[in-house]
Amino acid sequence: MKSFKSFLIFILCFITTLSLSGCKSNNSTSKGQPLTKTEVIIGTACTISLYDNKDPKILDEAFTRLKELEDILSINKLGTELDKVNEMAGKAPVEVSDDTFLVVSQGLKYSKLSDGALDITIGPLVKLWGIGTDAAKLPTEEEIAEKKSLINYKDLVLDENNKSIFLKKENMIIDLGAIAKGYAADEVASLLTKNNVKSAIIDLGGNIFAVGSKIDGSNWKIGVQDPEDARGSSIGYIEVTNKSIVTSGIYERFFESNGKKYHHILNPKTGYPYESEILGVSILTDKSIDGDSLSTTLFALGIDKGLEFINAQPGAEAIFVSKDHKLYLTEGLKNNFHLTSSKYEIIK
Ligand code: FAD
Ligand code: MG
Repeated sequence: MKSFKSFLIFILCFITTLSLSGCKSNNSTSKGQPLTKTEVIIGTACTISLYDNKDPKILDEAFTRLKELEDILSINKLGTELDKVNEMAGKAPVEVSDDTFLVVSQGLKYSKLSDGALDITIGPLVKLWGIGTDAAKLPTEEEIAEKKSLINYKDLVLDENNKSIFLKKENMIIDLGAIAKGYAADEVASLLTKNNVKSAIIDLGGNIFAVGSKIDGSNWKIGVQDPEDARGSSIGYIEVTNKSIVTSGIYERFFESNGKKYHHILNPKTGYPYESEILGVSILTDKSIDGDSLSTTLFALGIDKGLEFINAQPGAEAIFVSKDHKLYLTEGLKNNFHLTSSKYEIIK
């Protein structure tokens, strides 16, 4: 697996070189520089940079919130709320917090909207493949068939009155890897705003939230990475104020077996990673939970169906980067995306 960190640092440095001066890390600041902190939470490097109201207590509060969310939403830790729901699969509903109920409801909404292309009951397959962990392996056909039979969002029951979640079949597993970082980014953005921060960048492993504007009031310039360039050169950039930009791609979480690459977005129907013409898809929205849900959904749907899908979602824009170096943009991005790489071509 390639290093997540190098990718993330690139994003931050790229934002910095385009719009700010310098790139700092780990709770450091000086005049004109952001106050920045990085920690690995929810399985990825999380970086928050404050450009105004540079109070270390605000950063600490934000990281406490991220850890709180990891402690309820993770399936990689024992004793989380989600873990309890999964343990009680086939047995009984489990009452959960508002956070867990909200994220699972959102996951179910997109599972329905995408007709199961995104399916948050994908957990048994995610665990089986282990992509992104040291236990990654190519499963056998039998193993895949067994786990596939457990995946079906229609067997996930939410009770709004009791705030409870029930999985109908034993051994079913909800996995929120496709959407929870988006919710976490929204929660941090709202915490920063409540603390009167008007200029900040939140970067949760590919989920960027550009809070407010640059300190001089101008737009943030957020780079879209060239998925083929591990050194971190960009295809172009988007100008935004107070927006989320989320990317799903096949170039960070994958493993290789017998010369073939297997990435982490899995097709519930086949049990294998989606075969796709997409290298990466980036989504621009007001809320990062929508961006995160849409990035995985659009990757799963492919370019044609994905464009159709996102055009029906108000307030959401997308850039698809294809393996043959073509860029497909939604209408609202055609005047906002600045192409800087000669390797890629925008399809009108
Ligand atoms: P996205 O495109 O947003 O999502 C891909 C992820 O969604 C996959 O990794 C899988 O989890 C899931 N998925 C795959 N196919 C489908 C599908 N068809 N439908 C629905 N979902 C699908 N990783 C670790 O290595 N260690 C950890 O300790 C760890 N802890 C985590 C704790 C939490 C609370 C969460 C939410 C995730 C954690 N992760 C951990 C997972 C890691 O952060 C995910 O790989 C990450 O969320 C994937 O994000 P992405 O932006 O790369 O991809
Ligand atoms: Mg996603």
